[in-house]
Amino acid sequence: MNNLADVAAALKRAESVLVCGHVMPDGDSLGSVLALGLTLESMGKKVIMAGPDPSPAIYDFLPGLDQYRVGLPPDGGFDTLVVLDCSVPERLGPGFQELLSGETDIIILDHHAASSCFGKYRYVDPAAAAVGEIIYDLIIEMGLDINLDVAICLYTAIVTDTGSFQYDSTTPGTLRRVANLMEIGVPAALINVRIYEEKPKVFFQLLCSALSTLTTSSCGKISWMTVTRETIKNSGAKDEHTEGLVNYAKSIRGVEVGILFREIGEGSYKISFRSKDAIDVNRLAALFGGGGHPHASGCTVQGDLNEIIDRVVSAALLAARGIVR
Ligand code: 5GP
Ligand code: MN
Repeated sequence: MNNLADVAAALKRAESVLVCGHVMPDGDSLGSVLALGLTLESMGKKVIMAGPDPSPAIYDFLPGLDQYRVGLPPDGGFDTLVVLDCSVPERLGPGFQELLSGETDIIILDHHAASSCFGKYRYVDPAAAAVGEIIYDLIIEMGLDINLDVAICLYTAIVTDTGSFQYDSTTPGTLRRVANLMEIGVPAALINVRIYEEKPKVFFQLLCSALSTLTTSSCGKISWMTVTRETIKNSGAKDEHTEGLVNYAKSIRGVEVGILFREIGEGSYKISFRSKDAIDVNRLAALFGGGGHPHASGCTVQGDLNEIIDRVVSAALLAARGIVR
């Protein structure tokens, strides 16, 4: 494991850098990729900012997004690869994942406690609420100023990965960094409106359908919803509009774990877990080949939906047994 000074030195030496994040990018992945990419560009380096999947429309306001490339650059052209917010190589998605066996210097920056060991340079800080915090510290470590465009990207990374500063990952250090970003000029309230209060109507149609599947275990501690391809199609929504649905299952009084089962292909289901307090859903997702954080995790499972629900809910109930609040 390296320290930020090693990472800063490696980046200063680099001439051309590919910065990428994870599949189905969220605010932390995108905000961090753009913040670091724009910073490296301002240092005079050749930069490619990329990822395997498109950016959800709610992030259209992010500075630098016009330079974000979906898919691999056709002819390489970089001496350093920076991978952000990926706890395991698979999170990079097919194509990008293969770059890890290439000849370039590889720098991993992550905040997952169970981050696996890959990359030449690794800096993993599970105490960071978002990779955006690590990029913030890295820019300071490199002796640079954070400009307004970069500050907007960092704020977005942090506000989204902390659930608007509601999760217990939010520390005094998180809020100090955010205070500094606001002093640089970040219009925090405006960004919050863009991310959280401008959902398209189809989102609410999808929410209606998802809520009609809401089921709670007899003990009241586990609650889940399902979204099939048909539900998404019938509501006129896109996959990106499923973001945040799982929180409705979690927000019920007494519920410890909210789960969303989302069909992503024939017999293939993306499962999202969210917990409030006592249950470590990172461990729960790991039982099914996934991972994440103690209160937000996910995995992908193949098979029959009802069987999958049975297996996953049983495991969640086991985790919840004995919790008294
Ligand atoms: P979401 O439910 O929003 O897709 O994912 C929540 C968090 O769980 C992500 O930020 C990521 O840390 C983790 N996660 C989601 N899906 C996977 C997966 O398939 N594998 C691993 N290792 N982590 C995942
Ligand atoms: Mn993150």
